[in-house]
Amino acid sequence: MKHDKLLKEGSRITEPYCITKGEKFRLKDHDPADTNGVKDKRAAQGLLEDGIACLSHFQEMLYAQDRWALLLIFQAMDAAGKDGVIKHVMSGVNPQGCEVHAFKSPSNEELNHDYLWRNHKCIPERGKIGIFNRSYYEEVLVVRVHPTFLRPQKLPERLVTKHIWEERYEDINTFERYLARNGVVIRKFFLHVSKEEQKKRFLERLEDSKKNWKFSMADVQERSFWKDYQEAYEEMIQQTATKYAPWYVVPADNKWFTRLVVAGAILESLNELNLSFPDVEKAKRKELAAVRASLLAEKD
Ligand code: ATP
Ligand code: MG
Repeated sequence: MKHDKLLKEGSRITEPYCITKGEKFRLKDHDPADTNGVKDKRAAQGLLEDGIACLSHFQEMLYAQDRWALLLIFQAMDAAGKDGVIKHVMSGVNPQGCEVHAFKSPSNEELNHDYLWRNHKCIPERGKIGIFNRSYYEEVLVVRVHPTFLRPQKLPERLVTKHIWEERYEDINTFERYLARNGVVIRKFFLHVSKEEQKKRFLERLEDSKKNWKFSMADVQERSFWKDYQEAYEEMIQQTATKYAPWYVVPADNKWFTRLVVAGAILESLNELNLSFPDVEKAKRKELAAVRASLLAEKD
């Protein structure tokens, strides 16, 4: 294959960040500034460009084959770079084969249903890549950090017990196993940014008039719950990292490295599917040859 530089390097670059079993996972063992031996942005550039071209090729086969779907989930603290990763990594992908869904605070209609409802409706169809910018994982993150957010969900009182978070992990694992068994390949990315780097990025948003629009007061409020969020992320990964839906804990203090890891992980997942363009049956090939001959024979 032509563009296989990142694919060849991929597993070496992504391996330390892929969590398929949560038991021993500790967030403190992961450095947000790690670059796994890749020196700088320039060293990453060529690999990333090559990876994006390869991704485009894989996506075409995924679409043509129309069997598997790929679901990519992104979770992170504010300013960790979710939007930038999505924009850059997917830049070579045909927009017709890809859809992005951003999950914000739930609407009234959404609050009248179970929490997976709005997500399930957006699971990509076969042949497509679906991207969740935030997801049902907010239920064990923002809602866990602010348990009063459970109230508007109008759950029957007797169902809200001290086991609610454990139950949610269990529901999520079961839901993902169900999807995996039905041909949805799931890869989850936690963009792991440090508190210092977040501060730096917030200051840039405040000081650069072109970035002012990105700043939200709510983001600073959530920053004051940093420790609670880190604990919630750690437990989420411990409880929901599985072979069929692994978490990647992606160092996010260097945007160029974040993008490289995400692109590498997506390529690897698609490569494992042994995708190919579907074979055209003999009868169909005969039909195509006949049409070709008649087109060539046209007089005007
Ligand atoms: P950006 O700031 O780059 O536009 P964003 O993903 O931060 O992207 P916002 O509109 O700023 O988008 O934030 C969405 C908010 O919705 C987040 O604070 C998130 O925690 C919140 N949210 C998402 N899902 C839920 C949920 N199920 N319950 C409560 N809050 C939620
Ligand atoms: Mg925001």
